[in-house]
Amino acid sequence: MAEATKLFNQAEPPDDARRRAEWLRQEINKHNYYYYVLDSPIISDAEYDRLLRELMDLEQKYPRLVTPDSPTQRVGAEPQAQFRTHDHTEPMLSLANAFSEEELRAFISRACRMLKIPETEQLEYVCEPKIDGLAVSLTYVDGIFTVGATRGDGYKGEDITANLRTVKSIPLNLNRTWELAEKSERKFPIPTFIEVRGEVFLEHEEFRRINEDRSEKGEPTFANPRNAAAGSVRQLDPSVTSRRNLDMFAYAVGYVEGVTLDSQYELLEALRFWRFKTNPEIRLCSGVDSVWEFCREFDARRQALTYDVDGVVVKINSRRYQEALGSVSRSPRWAIAYKYAPTQAITIIRDIVVQVGRTGALTPVAIMEPVEVGGVIVSRATLHNEDEIKRKDVRIGDTVVIQRAGEVIPEVVEVVKDKRDGDEVEFQMPSNCPVCGADTERAPGEAVTRCIGIACPAQLAQRIYHFASRGAMDIEHVGPALVEQLLNAGLVHDPADLYYLTLDQLMSLDRMGEKSASNALAAIEQSKEAPLPRLIYALGIRHVGERTAQVLAEHFGTLDKLRNATEEELSAVMDVGPVVAASIARFFVQEETKMVMEKLRKAGVKPKEVTRPAKEEAVLGGKKLVFTGELQTLTRDEAEALVHELGGTASSSVSKNTDFVVAGERAGSKLAKANELGVKVITEEEFLRMVGK
Ligand SMILES: [Zn+2]
Repeated sequence: MAEATKLFNQAEPPDDARRRAEWLRQEINKHNYYYYVLDSPIISDAEYDRLLRELMDLEQKYPRLVTPDSPTQRVGAEPQAQFRTHDHTEPMLSLANAFSEEELRAFISRACRMLKIPETEQLEYVCEPKIDGLAVSLTYVDGIFTVGATRGDGYKGEDITANLRTVKSIPLNLNRTWELAEKSERKFPIPTFIEVRGEVFLEHEEFRRINEDRSEKGEPTFANPRNAAAGSVRQLDPSVTSRRNLDMFAYAVGYVEGVTLDSQYELLEALRFWRFKTNPEIRLCSGVDSVWEFCREFDARRQALTYDVDGVVVKINSRRYQEALGSVSRSPRWAIAYKYAPTQAITIIRDIVVQVGRTGALTPVAIMEPVEVGGVIVSRATLHNEDEIKRKDVRIGDTVVIQRAGEVIPEVVEVVKDKRDGDEVEFQMPSNCPVCGADTERAPGEAVTRCIGIACPAQLAQRIYHFASRGAMDIEHVGPALVEQLLNAGLVHDPADLYYLTLDQLMSLDRMGEKSASNALAAIEQSKEAPLPRLIYALGIRHVGERTAQVLAEHFGTLDKLRNATEEELSAVMDVGPVVAASIARFFVQEETKMVMEKLRKAGVKPKEVTRPAKEEAVLGGKKLVFTGELQTLTRDEAEALVHELGGTASSSVSKNTDFVVAGERAGSKLAKANELGVKVITEEEFLRMVGK
């Protein structure tokens, strides 16, 4: 023991540091609760950040102070290869549904009959909004959050602990020293073991933000907040989940030890006391009539909520009655989900038009006879893509059923085929962009058709910003805000126009002084000599990322040779498949492309030609490296680019063919794998020395 203490003496934090860390954890958790659960912060964001920063610094200095429930542990876990299975302590049953008042009343009559109590008795029921999200289970041992899991089939779910840790309204520790300032509440002991259940969901605003972000990156968007929440919870990389701002309402308890809860309402009180977020709309009702009244009244109110609610869960309040009723065929007999009918309407499609998004994606949109759905007049519905239209066989002139769920734009559910008179017209996806006239393309295996025009006004902001971005022409001072200003002022119509900007033009923009204007001009001028791979990447050819641009530059050497290459010649390049080859060839034959290329040449854009060091001479010639953990001096992208530049390859998984694993801070599973396979592990410092930095 004395030996062990001596061994770790250096890392042993002094008492005052330990006390300070404990105080900081409590304080941060408290403010977290005020911010994310009560939605009424009592300190500024800056003060909150200062507390968090101080805790991070302390933990860095004394790593022994890091506890699993520390607020610093919400992010930072390594991506996983797959989820582990989690066995639920008690099965997570699903609820029976009621779709009408009759079905709801029948459920209650049946329960009363089984309990042998007269139906006229005013039994207590808890009515809870049914959140359209994803059910999860959270296990706490001695108050500490240990495992989080999906519902799965009710018996086995997936272990998504690292992802659920990132959800700020989920407490990491139920033991706390702070009380709410203004509320006197009933106290509950901290259970020695408890499994809490809740619904993870996304607010509408966050759903929109995620979809905007995805469509800007050219990724498919989520159909509704529920899908987005499910997709976020089941991310293998917790850092993606942490950026999604998920939320959770707790509403049930599975297995519990160390505390007795006599009713559903008391259970909710206890969850609140343990600092879970519970839904503020929950009501305790007495008798079946008041339950039905709540369901009806809430239907009108739910439209104004910031999240999707698709029904009301009605639970018999008394725990004693719940136990007496038990469950049958995987559903409890003491609870039912009353589901609201989706808001649908019937109308006629007058036309199908095509919208071009910022990434060039063509979306067919139905223009309809205006009709009221769920209190809103709508005249447009999305048809998603070509395949959707074919699958539903939607034609211009068709009578259709449309549906609006929550915040989502209305969609066509089905065609009323009886109403067809033969005059309906089938829709054709245009082969030219309706905005700029360039060719459209639909890559094999993709559902989306895109415009490939380099000067397409619909995509201009995105294209110019991409052109100037890091990894592309890397033009400092030309960011999204300036690009937006330039477009609004009509100063640029394609990426090449950047090279024709004058000082006067730039200075005519709002908030643009002479200094920033000349900085931007200098950066633009400097980019004329960017290396060839960066220019190729900057052109924004579909399927040509940084890696492919590098390969193409090395193979062809000059831009002209690449431009004049045939599809066959392109296909022959290593790592360039037929889809990519076709995409490149089509890009360069477009009139707009030729025009922009000519403008670039005239402006004096002359990329540096590429000469690649012979493999054996290169420092990392033929070597395979894997990076893991957080690097201190380089970003992951920079490090990987460096490896490539020096003749090596950077891969994302460790195998016995890996030459080196570079382990940064908090390296996880890949480091373990490397040790297991006997792969050489080096530090970031050793890596930098190796490459002569
Ligand atoms: Zn276009």
